Amino acid sequence: MPGPQLIPPRTRRLFFALWPDAATRACLSALLEALPKEGGRDVRTENLHLTLAFLGECEESLLPCLDEVGDALEGRPFEMQFDEIGHFNRARVLWLGVSQPPEPLLALQAGLASQLASRCGLPRDERPFAPHLTLRRDARHAVPWPRDIAPIVWKVDGVVLVESVSGPHGVHYEPIRTWPLTCAAGCG
Ligand code: ATP
Ligand code: MG
Repeated sequence: MPGPQLIPPRTRRLFFALWPDAATRACLSALLEALPKEGGRDVRTENLHLTLAFLGECEESLLPCLDEVGDALEGRPFEMQFDEIGHFNRARVLWLGVSQPPEPLLALQAGLASQLASRCGLPRDERPFAPHLTLRRDARHAVPWPRDIAPIVWKVDGVVLVESVSGPHGVHYEPIRTWPLTCAAGCG
């Protein structure tokens, strides 16, 4: 008689992110369109986002804890002005960034990192947070900011938990939970 079959737990590839509203997404897409085409793969418009915490492959049993973390997040809505384009040489990533990261963004990311460690026992990312929005992968170098495009102001009013799903046409990001940024008691 065959022994019991070991069924590996189902895993999901997850990350916490800021997810642009439709108007901001349209501005991001227009910026991407205006960049010189110099090789690499542009991120699809519907996939544009800013990663706050990358979790990687997670067992489904972690989801209740991630819900708790989302529920415990504190902060008020804030604005972010994207005004620079840069390039990570090693990762070959062309990114959109903010020359002055707003304090609420840094507080949100730090709070998330510490909640993920203390509530869910997840390892902390040792690298300092470098807020950026990936525009193009396999990019060889940076490109200048397009002359006819103004800085992009994004009003952030929530945090999402996103599943990264690989399909026949590449990766697709699916927001599976959303938490509004409202100011709970004690957050100022
Ligand atoms: P692919 O890996 O298939 O090229 P991708 O990098 O877009 O696609 P994921 O690897 O699922 O998709 O990454 C999801 C998000 O998390 C992206 O914003 C990605 O830049 C970021 N990310 C991926 N790996 C890490 C990591 N080790 N540390 C920090 N952020 C990461
Ligand atoms: Mg990746």
